[in-house]
Amino acid sequence: MTITTGAGDIDRRLLMDRSVPRRVAFTVPDSDVPFQKLPDSSYLRDDVELPEVSQLEVVRYFSVLSQLNFSIDTNFYPLGSCTMKYNPKINDELANLPGLADIHPLQPEETVQGAIRLLKSLQDDLGEITGLPGVSLAPLAGAQGEYAGLLITRAYHAARNDAERTVAIVPDSAHGTNPASAAMAGLEVATVRSDDHGNVDVENLRELADGRTAVFMLTIPSTMGLFEPNILEIIKIIHDAGGLVYADGANLNALLGIVKLGDLGVDICHSNLHKTFSTPHGGGGPGSGPVMVTDELAKYLPKPVAEKTENGYVLAIPEASIGPINGFHGSFSIAARAYAYIKSLGLEGLQSVSENAIIGANYIQAKLKDKYDLAADRYCMHEAVLSASRQKKRGVAGLDIAKRLLDFGIHAPTMYFPLIIEEALMVEPTESESRETLDHFIAVMRQIDDEIDSTPELIHEAPHDLPVTRLDEAKAARKPVLRWTAEG
Ligand SMILES: *Cc1c(COP(=O)(O)O)cnc(C)c1O
Repeated sequence: MTITTGAGDIDRRLLMDRSVPRRVAFTVPDSDVPFQKLPDSSYLRDDVELPEVSQLEVVRYFSVLSQLNFSIDTNFYPLGSCTMKYNPKINDELANLPGLADIHPLQPEETVQGAIRLLKSLQDDLGEITGLPGVSLAPLAGAQGEYAGLLITRAYHAARNDAERTVAIVPDSAHGTNPASAAMAGLEVATVRSDDHGNVDVENLRELADGRTAVFMLTIPSTMGLFEPNILEIIKIIHDAGGLVYADGANLNALLGIVKLGDLGVDICHSNLHKTFSTPHGGGGPGSGPVMVTDELAKYLPKPVAEKTENGYVLAIPEASIGPINGFHGSFSIAARAYAYIKSLGLEGLQSVSENAIIGANYIQAKLKDKYDLAADRYCMHEAVLSASRQKKRGVAGLDIAKRLLDFGIHAPTMYFPLIIEEALMVEPTESESRETLDHFIAVMRQIDDEIDSTPELIHEAPHDLPVTRLDEAKAARKPVLRWTAEG
């Protein structure tokens, strides 16, 4: 047998395939407590095949596994609408301080004054940033923030004996959670069209807004990565019709320190701490989507809301609260990370975050627009929405480009969203990437465009060098294999 060498040879065997009978990773010390009877043998299974491996094998297995995925700590990750920005490590350090990490949600309030004060301070900062001073940190995700905001809308109309208002108007470019949250909150969804420039079609909105309008949900900046130029007029149309304006501020990355949603006339918004405020995300959580409202609506906020009283900090229930929307106070350790982020930047620093995010996206747009169509040929905000429609005509779809980018160590941009843009590739570089990284991305995107004419098979078969190569998308959707089984 010949043994070949290769520095890049990484052992990618499954843990099960490393198993050797009776090998162990850990030896339990002799028991120093009285022996307990085993459970009835009918509860014990002997058909569970478990790997028998040494501790070193386990460490190697998980260390390799942790490297097989893309993450913001390993790769450029321009996933539009998801704001994969750098998660500063000082945030983790702060959140892991024993006074913040080793506390329990049911502990008496007087023993966790510092933690509640942190929540109050974060509430105040989010109120200041959005111009909407009533804040609850309870929602565990952006979608839950939307849901809370829509329940607040319903409570507001119900309190005014205006319960006929059951329609949520949502733009056709909206994030899918918007209509879904509206439906969950018991509202009917009416879709307003976008015009040729990607803005809300104001005339269409005028036709839709009436005595049944409960709320209009607008993503700001829009999912096209654009600032809505008619925003003041739009808000006036909705207010004149008696409805409330909800801003989806999941991605406030373009507006920090520049625009306050409350100043525009927005009544309610949410923001994702796991996007705009640099807390980690992916893998299903933990997330955090605080909901912010005007003073008038603050009494409806979900509980709890941190408050300062004469007797110190308390977790209060607002007067006409929609109630709890989950257990306890939301994602505390995530709130602590966002607090660290905001405090370490200060309001001025936050403004430069947005300025740099906007410059980065516009730089990419300007450097690629001769090769790729733009969703809208004007300055964008923090994300550039490209279209691969010209490439599609030459035989390479947006999906193929996204797959080929993986070969260059770049995570795919968001694809086929917003839905109204053909072959959409939504690129969000964020403020945390360097000029060199952006230049590398631009060069790769230009090279892929050249490859369409020279070596299209390279694109069609990509990715070539990843642990998982090209998937059968249809089969993956129809017959997903969701867990590992011994049979393989
Ligand atoms: C991500 C996102 C949401 C949903 O946030 P989750 O935390 O995933 O529930 C809502 N709206 C917009 C515009 C988003 O980008």
